[in-house]
Amino acid sequence: MERSNPQNQTAPKGSPFTGILWGLLIVLLLNGLIFPSFSGGRIVETDYGTFISKVDSGLVRDVVIKNGEIYFTSSGAGDRTEAYRTGAIDDPGLVDRLLQAESPNPDGRIAFNRVVPRENSPLLNFFLMWVLPGLAFYLIWRQASRGIQARMREGGNFMSFGSSGAKIYADADVKTSFADVAGQDEAKETLREIVDFLHDPSRYAEIGASLPKGALLVGPPGTGKTLIARAVAGEARVPFFAISGSEFVQMFVGMGAAKVRDLFRQAGEKAPCIIFIDEIDAIGKRRDSAVGGNDEREQTLNQLLVEMDGFGANEGVIIIAATNRPDILDPALLRPGRFDRQVTVGYPDLKGREAILKVHAKGKPLGPDVDLNTIAKTTIGFTGADLENLLNEAALLAARRDKKAITMTEIEEAMIKVVAGTEKKSHKMTDKEKRLTAYHEAGHAVSAYYLEYNDPVHQVSIVPRGQMGGYTMYLPTEDKSYHSKNEMLDNLVSLLGGRVAEAIVIGDVSTGASNDIERATDIARKMVTKYGMSDRLGSISFESGHDEIFIGRSMAQAKPYSEQVAAQIDEEVKSIVDAAYERCEDILSRDQKHLIAVAEFLLAHETMSAEEFEAVFTDEAAGHDKI
Ligand code: ADP
Ligand code: MG
Ligand code: ZN
Repeated sequence: MERSNPQNQTAPKGSPFTGILWGLLIVLLLNGLIFPSFSGGRIVETDYGTFISKVDSGLVRDVVIKNGEIYFTSSGAGDRTEAYRTGAIDDPGLVDRLLQAESPNPDGRIAFNRVVPRENSPLLNFFLMWVLPGLAFYLIWRQASRGIQARMREGGNFMSFGSSGAKIYADADVKTSFADVAGQDEAKETLREIVDFLHDPSRYAEIGASLPKGALLVGPPGTGKTLIARAVAGEARVPFFAISGSEFVQMFVGMGAAKVRDLFRQAGEKAPCIIFIDEIDAIGKRRDSAVGGNDEREQTLNQLLVEMDGFGANEGVIIIAATNRPDILDPALLRPGRFDRQVTVGYPDLKGREAILKVHAKGKPLGPDVDLNTIAKTTIGFTGADLENLLNEAALLAARRDKKAITMTEIEEAMIKVVAGTEKKSHKMTDKEKRLTAYHEAGHAVSAYYLEYNDPVHQVSIVPRGQMGGYTMYLPTEDKSYHSKNEMLDNLVSLLGGRVAEAIVIGDVSTGASNDIERATDIARKMVTKYGMSDRLGSISFESGHDEIFIGRSMAQAKPYSEQVAAQIDEEVKSIVDAAYERCEDILSRDQKHLIAVAEFLLAHETMSAEEFEAVFTDEAAGHDKI
């Protein structure tokens, strides 16, 4: 991605000569200001005798001895200062004479010094004095005149320097393609669809499909978001504007918004095209009304929202953005019609890691003992960037040792380095943690399998995602706007599955389940206080519905019910959670066989699809009734 927007390279209108002339003029003026006594015409040539007599009569202010000449100033008629030059004569008494002489200077002394002659050639002097400043001024002039032109184009918008700083890449510029992105199939699939759409919008328009306006790539640092966007640029064969969020906010106040405007104007002219905003969190942070908010950033964000709304759905401008902090983004960015598609670019799973290693092992000779699959197995929690780094470090070590190929020794040493270096970033799991996670997730999944009202398992994984160690995803069978009591009870059971499995198989429980327990408690409490699903307390809502007016008062006052009822609520919540726990224990202790099978599968493959999960149960064709 080297070539910049050709527009940025167009020469400014107007002859360069005008610029050089202006530059010289300014140099002349400045030279006059900075070295007034030495500038042309005003220095009077005089003889050494006159100099001495002026010194002795106390008229001399400054003396500079330079290049075998004496430059001096003295008071002349009417208190004017006159500048003189005379030849320096080998005069050992001169310093004493100058020290003793009187002077019209405020401190009554002559200011004098000797400038050590420089060895500069006259040519260099000329260059430094004239050509260099002239050149500098020419460049400044060029920049400024470009700004003026841009402002005229923009219709008099000050601060806009005309260039959004976005780089445009045409098809030939970017060599990256989807083939360079290993794994991340889901992300690639989504983006391929978008690229397709841009190539043939009519096909989609004919059946009334509208182009998504924006896609947000979300994932931890180093997982390949920027890489994927670059691949889109390489494959799209439409203009691709790339800019990083931080570039919007570096500059002066008002610049960010102007840059956004300019970017979208350029994109509008080049449609169909793609705009890529990397690290959008730099401008997309949640706006808050609190004092001390960053006005500049908010202006920029507002402008971005305005511009995104300004495009019709099928105008062929697609905005792709990337972030590793979707949690801090302003909700307005995620509304329909803006970044309505989220594409997860997560930690790669086993297959993904092996594929990434293959990509980055290209051009690196590997010893016969190096097996990429084995490396992939031991690097759960590594990102693509970590894996690239790993192979690089190993190659460096091998080179340092004069080896012809990278061996397992180097890989292992590099591993230590990479893990230590990214301690905070990558969560390399120990075997014990891996086992715990595997059983935890298996517990969720297997309990869900037996629950009639729980959504079916879609994917189980022990690859970390965000803060979570692993995850179990369910596939909602229908779009639900409300939930039944049975559903909620079943959800409680599957939520507790992780904790229960840990207790049953490992005989100890971990903090990994704390979020599950929180969520379970929350559901149970809502069932009691909000949805009136408790048999004992009946169909009464114990929510005030006016939470906000109670802020600042004590909680006791805020509760619209008595202490007695509060105690009953707590009891009821506990009994619901306890009952769910028991049901879960019952399910998992009855079918430890499949719990173990799923966990072992996860330990071996890390990620399990719905089909693979179902296969565990159906392979031996034993009928399992729903409990
Ligand atoms: P992000 O933008 O998500 O922080 P980058 O795209 O900058 O991550 O990834 C950094 C580098 O890591 C990439 O340039 C690439 O060399 C390597 N990398 C990351 N993910 C992958 C991947 N899926 N396939 C191949 N290389 C990858
Ligand atoms: Mg990036
Ligand atoms: Zn869990």
